Amino acid sequence: MTTIAAAESTTELLSRIAAREHLAPGEWLQVIEQAPTEDLQDIADRLRAELHPDNYVTYVVDRNINYTNVCFSVCNFCAFYRKPGHSEGYVLDYEEIYSKVEEMLEVGGSGILMQGGLHPDLPLDYYTGLLSELKKRYGIHLHCFSPTEIYGMAKTFGMTYETVLKELKAAGLDSLPGGGGEILVDEIRRKRRTECNSQEWLDVMEAAHGLGIPTTATMMIGYGETRPQRIEHLEKLYRLQQRTSGFIAFIPWTFQPDNTPIGRIIPTRLPGEEYLRWLALSRIYLHNIPNVQVSWLTVGLEDGRRGLHFGANDIGSTMIEENVISKAGANHKATENMLRSVILEEGFLPAKRKADYSRLPAPG
Ligand code: SF4
Repeated sequence: MTTIAAAESTTELLSRIAAREHLAPGEWLQVIEQAPTEDLQDIADRLRAELHPDNYVTYVVDRNINYTNVCFSVCNFCAFYRKPGHSEGYVLDYEEIYSKVEEMLEVGGSGILMQGGLHPDLPLDYYTGLLSELKKRYGIHLHCFSPTEIYGMAKTFGMTYETVLKELKAAGLDSLPGGGGEILVDEIRRKRRTECNSQEWLDVMEAAHGLGIPTTATMMIGYGETRPQRIEHLEKLYRLQQRTSGFIAFIPWTFQPDNTPIGRIIPTRLPGEEYLRWLALSRIYLHNIPNVQVSWLTVGLEDGRRGLHFGANDIGSTMIEENVISKAGANHKATENMLRSVILEEGFLPAKRKADYSRLPAPG
């Protein structure tokens, strides 16, 4: 009797979310815990088709440049950073970055995703000088510095987030990647030793949106958080987006445990099925964010292709270079032609885009 009542109630909740009603957190939790996968998939897929009726699935050719691995945070899910003073710490000089950009341009790329650790000694003009030189020389899209890095710069330079972002924008910054979001709940962030707390991350995003800098948002799942914490994360993003409309895309991805301190405690990756359920729920929950990207880089190309039927309208990047999650075990590779083939095979039309999700002409 109890089971039938709960099942009916979940069906009712599914009807309400199909009508774009925003549920209470406890109701969302019931949906993710009890709804059949095909129902979640169906609602997410219909919403994707409604938001993107021309049937295009986008992708980007860009390069992830990690300008430094030196970091004063010590996140215990990270295999990339080196503490200040460590012999393996590095900072790329401008010339090294220029040659990476030139390689990216040679294969038809449109911009760079540049991120790094929280370096305690790099001056502000390292960042502003680099952005303005890259813009002047190449005119490319500069999708750079996660909120965690902006937080680190503000702390290092004794400046507000707004002032740091204004300086970077004036130097050529186009958009901000949503890295460092992980799960925006301080209980799990403290356990994972994340330097930037959830409100600080959100405040940086709100400051960026206030300055007209578009951003993406991410969610990293499978690093020891609970389902209610994942719901709280989605709710915080939903509420900020209601105020600012500054998020252009949402990217849920999975924790990669190899070579990370907590990989010994959480050695397994999130199963593909669970990822796809959360991808669908994210699409439905964040109906106020226009684009949802499936993270083929962390879940592999097969689940990446399935994700296009679970609400994703974007398959992400060819990732000419990636140094952060590849160190933690995500070593999937794909060329532009592979991504285009996958999109076509799944019944969609491929479109190359820039980091701001504006579309580029098809390759000749
Ligand atoms: S995740 Fe980012 S902030 Fe955390 S240790 Fe790694 S590089 Fe530093």
